Formats: sequence, structure tokens, C-alpha cells
Amino acid sequence: MRDKYDVVVGLEIHAELKSKTKVFCSCANTYGAEPNTLVCPVCLALPGTSPVLNKKCVELTIKSGLMTNCKINEYNYFERKNYFYPDLTKSYQISQVKVPICVDGYVTLSSGKKIGISDIHLEEDTGKLTHIGDKSYIDYNRGGVPLIETVTKPDISSADEAVEFLETLRGIYVYGDIAECKLEQGGMRFDVNLSVKKKGSTELGKRVEMKNLNSFRSVKRAIEYESARQIALLEEGKEVLGETRKWDEDKNENVAMRAKLATAVYRCFADPDLPMLHIPKELVEEIRKDLPLTIAQLKELYTKEYGLTEYDAGVITANKMFSDFYNECIKLYNKPKELSTWVQSELMRNVKDKIKISPEHFVKIIEMADAKKISRTNAVPLIAEVMKTQKDPEVLAKEMDIINSMDDSNLEPLIDALIEANPKAVEDFKTTPDKIITFFAGQLMKQTRGKANVVKAKEIILSKLQGK
Ligand SMILES: [Zn+2]
Repeated sequence: MRDKYDVVVGLEIHAELKSKTKVFCSCANTYGAEPNTLVCPVCLALPGTSPVLNKKCVELTIKSGLMTNCKINEYNYFERKNYFYPDLTKSYQISQVKVPICVDGYVTLSSGKKIGISDIHLEEDTGKLTHIGDKSYIDYNRGGVPLIETVTKPDISSADEAVEFLETLRGIYVYGDIAECKLEQGGMRFDVNLSVKKKGSTELGKRVEMKNLNSFRSVKRAIEYESARQIALLEEGKEVLGETRKWDEDKNENVAMRAKLATAVYRCFADPDLPMLHIPKELVEEIRKDLPLTIAQLKELYTKEYGLTEYDAGVITANKMFSDFYNECIKLYNKPKELSTWVQSELMRNVKDKIKISPEHFVKIIEMADAKKISRTNAVPLIAEVMKTQKDPEVLAKEMDIINSMDDSNLEPLIDALIEANPKAVEDFKTTPDKIITFFAGQLMKQTRGKANVVKAKEIILSKLQGK
């Protein structure tokens, strides 16, 4: 039944911009403060106040457009979208309706398919309502937080495609330092527009909108549920109504909320408090010149130029914090493959939310290990210690007494003694040589508390065992 229909999906994505202050006033743009502490007469819209546009927010919006192949409108303006709701003290939201900053871009999926972006516009967020029992609580801290709304063309044709698009877009905004897109904090939210049509038909079906979804999973489920619902209606000869439906995450279904509102209902008009916004071409070029690499571009650099595997490149770029760190380390020590191993093994396992070691110190420890000044084994606690104390690794290594001080000539008698004491292992060398060498090296490092040069030690062990 499903293959008789095409599913047509368009998305609207709200992302909170990573600016220090709100979009039209100087209140801090921070998450998690005490309710109603980050407010002022401007964002509360008290009489006699006027909004002043935050330049940083405009720059971040331009950046979002350039990174998604949009054109930048040199002249654009803000409008008032009028409606009453308790989370909006102004009774209107300042947004861009007719002429937004960015238009006509696209994002490419892994299949090569391009998902068109009709526009990205800058607007302000509303306050936040929390309903507990029969009471509702309002926090205006979020009122006036800058949002970009990215509107796609109806180019998406499945739930999986929608999720891949959202993951890609999120990667672009996070890597571009445009938005943090923390879904669990509401920093990225989604509206889904969906209709179905007979396969191959050019006539679109009635569109249903599902608003304010807050995870990729709920977008996926909502698309699956709603497309099945619409197809079932059409199969029964019934009509799909153009309406807004509310997604219920717990029940895994949606319910009708209201008929879909036309834009005209909001009686939009140009905000008389804000002049026409002129974006000089030079500013756009300046931003374009400094655009950071996207995840896709970084992966290409890592695999083609640095020789990493697809897998390793994927692990490092999965988190911007680690790939930023890795990029800094490479500037200091041009051994990309080795650095990738160190970052994946010794850094990632010790870091939760913040890297508490500088690239300089991290690289210094790797250099010490490469120069056999310390053993690879002792590099691990040294990294942990630097993270704790922020002291210079060389000073710390001395304090921890892990500098390789053992003269290679002293190794021989120790190895001889070990071989003497482990006849069974000597016997097993014939069948599992690698395992036995590792065994003896391990014993030796234990005895010398890691101060022996392990490469040299393995050489000696091998030659001794081969001679047996
Ligand atoms: Zn304010």
C-alpha cells in the first residue's frame, strides 16, 4: 500500500545562536540561570524601549547561510508577527517574514541528494512556559534569545532522510560555531510539514504541520506515524485536513490541535523600531574567507592528506572538541596518524566534558614518549597528572620519577635473570613468540617501574630467546 504513495516532507529548524548576548538587548544569552534573572526593559518590551540589533547575530546568520550554500540578501528587514500568548510580553515576535537574510541554499546528503533550503532567517525566541499540575510558570530568560530558523524545501521523502539531513545541518552549525544545538536544552527544535501524494503525481496533498519536536527520534517517529495516518485516510477514500497536529512523545501518536494558520493571520508588518538591514558585500566576503571546515571537509582532509582510515576520521570528527584539539596538535607535531592514536586512546577516555590539558602539553608528552624519555605506559598517568595539576609535563615526570634513567647496558643482567626464572615461558616462545616477548617486556617494565627503554628491551629479549 505504501509504495503507491510518495511522502513529501519539509522541515523548519530553530537553532539558538551562540552569541554572548540576546538579539535586541544586552542581556546574557545563557542557559540554566534562575528564572527571570536575565531580563531587561527591552526584552520585556516595557513602554519606551527600543530594540537594538546585535551585529554578532547577523554575522552568525550570514555564516549559517554561507555554509549551506545560500545567497545573502544585501537588503533585508524585520517584521512584527502579531499574536497573543503569555510567553510573549510584546504580543508580537520580531522575525523576518518576506525578506530574510539567507535564501536559496542546499545541503548535500551522503547519497549525493541535495535538500534545498528556501531561507534562513533571524528572529527572537519567546519565554518558556512550564505547566505543573493546574499551574503554569513563565520564565522570560529565553525571551529575546537569538534564533535562526532554517526552512527547507519539500525535498525530503522519508523519515531516515529527514534524520540524516538534521544530523548534517547540526554538524554544520556546531562546527561553524554558529549554534551549540543542544537538543536536551531546547537549543534546536523542529517543525515537520508533511503531505502524501499518489506516486509520480505532481499534485501535492494537503499539508499537516507538527510543531515543536525536540529530538531526532521524535522527528523520525512523527514522520512515520503521520505518513501512515494520511495514507490510511486516502485508502479509505477520506480526506486529509490541512491542520496543525501535536506530537505526543509518550503515546507515540499525534492529535489534531487547530486548523493551520495562514501567515496573514499574524498581520505582519515591518518593525518601525528597526531600520532596513544593509549587509555590505565586503562583510559577506570577510565571513566567507574565514569559514571553518565542515565535518565532510575535515574527514576528507584526515583521510586524503593525513592518511587516517575512514573509521578514525569518523571517531575524531564525531565531537568538535576533539577534532579542534587534534587540529591544534598537528600544528605542533606533524605526525597525524600517531596523534590520532593518542587522541583516541589516551585523551578520549580521560575526558568527559572539557579537555583539561593544552595541546602543547599533550604533544610534549608524546614527544617524550617517542624520544624514549618516558615509557608509553608511564605517559598515561602523566597525562592524567597534567590534567589535574596543569604543571609542565617535564617537571611532573621528574617529580613522578618516571624519566627513563635506566642505561640500556643495565638491561641485560635483568633480562637474563627473568629468563632464568621462567623456563616455561622460554619453552612457549617456540609456539607463541610475540606473546612471550610481551610477557618478558611486561615483567621487566614492572621491575624497573617503567624506566627501561621498552623497544631496546624487546630487542634484547628476542635475541636472547632466539639463542636458546
Ligand atoms: Zn534584555
